[in-house]
Amino acid sequence: MGNPFEYAPAPESRAVVDIAPAYGLFIDGKFADAADGGRLKTVNPATEEVLSEIAVGGEADVDRAVKAARKAFKSWSALPGAERAKFLFRIARLVQEHARELAVLESIDNGKPIRESRDVDVPLVAAHFFYYAGWADKLAHAGFGPSPRPIGVAGQVIPWNFPLLMLAWKVAPALAAGNTVVLKPAETTPLTALRFAEICVEAGLPDGVLNIVTGAGETGRALLAHPDVDKVAFTGSTGVGKEIARAIAGTRKRVTLELGGKAANIVYDDAAIDSAVDGIVEGIFFNGGQVCCAGSRLLVQESVADEVMESLTRRIRTLRVGDPLDKNTDVGAINSAAQLSRIKELVAVGEAEGAERWSLAGDLPAKGFWFPPTVFTGVTQAHRIARDEIFGPVLTVQTFRTPAEAVEKANNSAYGLSAGVWTEKGAKALWTAQRLRAGVVWTNTFNKFDPTSPFGGFKESGFGREGGRHGLEAYLDV
Ligand code: NAP
Ligand code: MG
Repeated sequence: MGNPFEYAPAPESRAVVDIAPAYGLFIDGKFADAADGGRLKTVNPATEEVLSEIAVGGEADVDRAVKAARKAFKSWSALPGAERAKFLFRIARLVQEHARELAVLESIDNGKPIRESRDVDVPLVAAHFFYYAGWADKLAHAGFGPSPRPIGVAGQVIPWNFPLLMLAWKVAPALAAGNTVVLKPAETTPLTALRFAEICVEAGLPDGVLNIVTGAGETGRALLAHPDVDKVAFTGSTGVGKEIARAIAGTRKRVTLELGGKAANIVYDDAAIDSAVDGIVEGIFFNGGQVCCAGSRLLVQESVADEVMESLTRRIRTLRVGDPLDKNTDVGAINSAAQLSRIKELVAVGEAEGAERWSLAGDLPAKGFWFPPTVFTGVTQAHRIARDEIFGPVLTVQTFRTPAEAVEKANNSAYGLSAGVWTEKGAKALWTAQRLRAGVVWTNTFNKFDPTSPFGGFKESGFGREGGRHGLEAYLDV
């Protein structure tokens, strides 16, 4: 990846990870059961095997966590930035030391291919902590005035598609800026966040600076509604995002929302077709398409449409769907039964609306949650599969004749998170990027992330930016 923080992982092995039969909530530096003893099971989506039971935080637990974060805020925010940085650097190095284990744990709990958790997610987690550690003693020089102050207690709620990476995107800038945190992971993927809590203990992070309250949607609702939470950071669906925006309207809380997407991936007739096809595959099948910025709408110029489709089909036939822990796997499991049924429902709608479906043939494992790589042609703007986020390995294909038509179709969406442009002409790439209403526009690549570049959406994809210098602003009183 050309990543300066890259770390050579331990020699390839089917690393054994220790998963405890049950986990408590991580509050004030200690693990403890929920006040009412509530528990949920987390399963391996590739096998349906129960991995562990996790505590379900209720209002009383959330309150205890917010109090711990409030208490810790006083001394944490008073530490010189260079001292806070030491903890973040230590966490980053420990993530690297535990890289193999974290990658395996992530793939077991989430279903994503080990190649992705090992080569993308976990290295990026470390990179985010290194990057924001570097800002901790330079906040006065970040362009936010001479003495920007932290906001206070941050309540953070994250989804299941990049469990540890979404944690890093939120926790690293919050702590660097001097805030304290209560984070709620998604109910189907709590394990790496809990392992991360243990890493923070190992790093000597003071008690209460980071608290992890596991549970379901109600736990998240209680956290974001808590009156002593100063800053709300949410990544998830647009539906829940809107509910949160309504719930906190009129309060003094600061908020950033990272919501859904339906990205256009535009292929012009002068693109290098082989690379474009690789980019289309990367755009929609990375993490099984369970990616907010997935390139789920292919827009291909009419004159090359047949050539692109032929090459794309050939390429998809080489994809290996199956065991997430096999390093040759390209497409892993769908994260949950609920997500699988949402994908199936929208695919059925696509067929009923008259679009033409093609799915990769082959046996899928009998147990677990699986969906084959799928492509819809004969799609129009009016089709629901072209408008709704499917959040699975399902691509819709539309054609266009002129650049203006490509831009119009791309922007004809309620979302505006990301987009891709494939062309050999720099001027055309810039012309297109300037007209796309999307927070991130990739040119001749797709789904590339870096801690230095801001990420976030327009329209119903949310507001606020994470990553880069912009990502600090959300955690500073400027
Ligand atoms: P979700 O249902 O909105 O859940 C996201 C998180 O919010 C989970 O931790 C969930 O808890 C919690 N939650 C549910 N209801 C809540 C409420 N009323 N108040 C507070 N928290 C609540 O979304 P998801 O299905 O997990 O994730 C998929 C969605 O996330 C997709 O739409 C995707 O585009 C979006 N996403 C966006 C980005 C981005 O950066 N823009 C990144 C990744 C994903 P439980 O899981 O425990 O129910
Ligand atoms: Mg799970």
